[in-house]
Amino acid sequence: MIRERAFPVDPWCIRETRLDLDVLAQSESIFALSNGHVGLRGNLDEGEPHGLPGTYLNSFYELRPLPYAEAGYGFPESGQTIVNVTNGKLIRLLVDDEPLDVRYGELLEHERQLDLRDGLLKRQLHWRSPAGRDVRVRTTRLVSFTQRSVAAIHYEVEAVDDVVRITLQSELVANEALPPQSRDPRVAAVLESPLQAEERLLKESGGLLMHQTKVSGLRVAAAMDHQVEGPDRTTIATEGYEDWLRTTVGCVLKPGEKLTVIKYFAYGWSSRRSLPALRDQVDAALDAALLTGWDGLLREQREYLDEFWETSDVHVDGDPEVQQAVRFGLFHVLQAGIRAERRPIAAKGLTGPGYDGHSFWDTETFVLPVLTYTRPAAVADALYWRYSTLDSARDRARTLNHAGAAFPWRTINGQESSAYWPAGTASFHIAADIADAVRRYVQATGDEQFEREVGLELLVETARLWISLGHHDRHGVFHIDGVTGPDEYTAVKNDNVYTNLMAQRNLLVAADAAIRHQTYAEQLGVTDQETATWRDAAMDMNVPFDDELSVHQQVEGYTRLQEWDFKNTPQEKYPLLLHFPYFDLYRRQAIKQADLVLAMHWRGDAFDADQKLRNFLYYERRTVRDSSLSACTQAVIAAEVGFLELAHDYLREAALMDLHDLAENTRDGVHIASLAGAWIALVAGFGGFRDHEPIPDFAPRLPGRITRLEFSVLWRGLRLQVRITAEEVTYNLVGADDDASLEIRHHGEKVVVTGGQPVTCALPEIPTPPVAPRQPPGRAPLRRNYSPDF
Ligand code: BGC
Repeated sequence: MIRERAFPVDPWCIRETRLDLDVLAQSESIFALSNGHVGLRGNLDEGEPHGLPGTYLNSFYELRPLPYAEAGYGFPESGQTIVNVTNGKLIRLLVDDEPLDVRYGELLEHERQLDLRDGLLKRQLHWRSPAGRDVRVRTTRLVSFTQRSVAAIHYEVEAVDDVVRITLQSELVANEALPPQSRDPRVAAVLESPLQAEERLLKESGGLLMHQTKVSGLRVAAAMDHQVEGPDRTTIATEGYEDWLRTTVGCVLKPGEKLTVIKYFAYGWSSRRSLPALRDQVDAALDAALLTGWDGLLREQREYLDEFWETSDVHVDGDPEVQQAVRFGLFHVLQAGIRAERRPIAAKGLTGPGYDGHSFWDTETFVLPVLTYTRPAAVADALYWRYSTLDSARDRARTLNHAGAAFPWRTINGQESSAYWPAGTASFHIAADIADAVRRYVQATGDEQFEREVGLELLVETARLWISLGHHDRHGVFHIDGVTGPDEYTAVKNDNVYTNLMAQRNLLVAADAAIRHQTYAEQLGVTDQETATWRDAAMDMNVPFDDELSVHQQVEGYTRLQEWDFKNTPQEKYPLLLHFPYFDLYRRQAIKQADLVLAMHWRGDAFDADQKLRNFLYYERRTVRDSSLSACTQAVIAAEVGFLELAHDYLREAALMDLHDLAENTRDGVHIASLAGAWIALVAGFGGFRDHEPIPDFAPRLPGRITRLEFSVLWRGLRLQVRITAEEVTYNLVGADDDASLEIRHHGEKVVVTGGQPVTCALPEIPTPPVAPRQPPGRAPLRRNYSPDF
């Protein structure tokens, strides 16, 4: 775990003031740079030491077999794993023949900082070689938001007291050796030497390498070029072999003299494009970057982020750690999704190999809600990607003997990659999660063209899946049996409330969309009769409730399952999945992550206030949060039912997941959904924002220590800014014309906000419920830190 104060609290920057090699892999994930297209882990420039070298390209994967001891019908046979591609970050430095390696000599100073406004990773160090020669090195790295294939590094070395001979080797390296991964089954499988060399081109100041994966047949081109500024007689030359290319810059520096090398590198990849086409594409990207120049790239990056923060920033007064963390989270969400452009957004973004680089329901349920109200165009792209995989999803449904589309639980290329069907294929709720993301995006943007051309088919095919999966019993009740909800410790059960309520909405939204776009729906074969079956199923949907306890049952019969013996479960036995057989978890009431509580967030319209409180108390006592996808949801509902301080604790856990490495697996990549969850906990938790209906609905309330919360949501082209203090909230349409207006709800009351006329409303008293919530022993959220700078 990263120590509490590893990164000093700073509203706009993640700064590491000394290099701790024990947490190098974690910091590589935290300092990863990406734009959703290309991702570079925050590896040290000189490559070693490293925790985990990583360079990723969205959807660049290798296929691997999924071996089963006992195979069964419908088990996927092949999986996908993201590939660590050609490393372009490498810049080795030799000082009088001695390699700069922080493990040798003396590291007099080492600082790294990720600047969230500039979008740059900066590093500065002062190193004394074992022979006693001092150099200062300053580097700045960026992955461009504006030129999606391009990354660049500004590398400067300065001699301090003596004349030193400098050799700088800037490289492209394919098939890097990866260190062995942990035994945690969730950690990505390692692939050895996945790239086969195809082409190599050299010129004096750089060159290009092309490779192809052996089984998936994807082709990648990586190219680099350099601009060098040094003393007289600075030399430059490039050489290379199949898997590496090296540009060497040599010079002699007198004390105070500097050598500056700017490295530009670019990637292109494709499953279809020919070798010459890809080569030319990468050359062109590199040329464009050189033309823009270093200063130009910096300027573009800053302008891009200025625009992002202008509309998307969240301001928190009273908890500086959360302030820093929520911006860090938004930055990583932006990095993961913004240039993904019709490719998936993975659970770890492009920050590490965790979960094999797969995309899950995390995207639609946690990441897209944030992007819908901050960067809606990225949501259209992400859903377009799902749309582009519809044929695979239809095939999968056919294989499973069902109608409609069965989207994969985890995937890169659209095909199911989960070898464990009870927490994979059986997690059919992903269909409804996708449908709800479509609904939310269309509702918030009014993008009818998208709904017609992309959304409708997703809604129709997912609705068809529910009809085919479910059935009416002899009493006319509709059931969806044998499925797994979000809580992976409860699998293959009947009538999961979350799944059923989300499917219900899916069916109704699909039926409504089919009316709105009748001609298009007819082309998909939708008839009035079919939509009538959707509405019937939705109306008759079973939502199991325990009348005796007055709580909903997460799945039918849940409340009568044996209780988990939490008292006798020591803390080192968590996460439970690594210490107990699934068989045992499935038979008892132990909850990995919010499930029924998640239903109360996204389908909050299906519960009354009393049910929400009773359910929250019941499920809180059984939820262990072995998944990072839980704390933010518990924050949202804790806030709604009146436990504001607990909600604050959960918010902190979601927000600090990676900065404090709370799950102890940040080394494999950051938790994009949890980071998005910090926004959700603030906006939906303390802002009380809900979007069940086409009117944005707010019910703000702040915990004691948060004195001000300010955020914006984009709604139909308007930017609604919400500024909350302990007593009141002001709703303001920022930058809107005087005749623009938006109807919203404030604690249930209709309010109309007009351009240029902010509306201020008082906050009602939120009574704290008489019963205090309890968690399983030792599973309470991270308590707040009352250190002096808090
Ligand atoms: C969670 C899933 C999640 C996956 C990827 C698992 O531990 O239980 O809900 O989709 O991680 O983040």
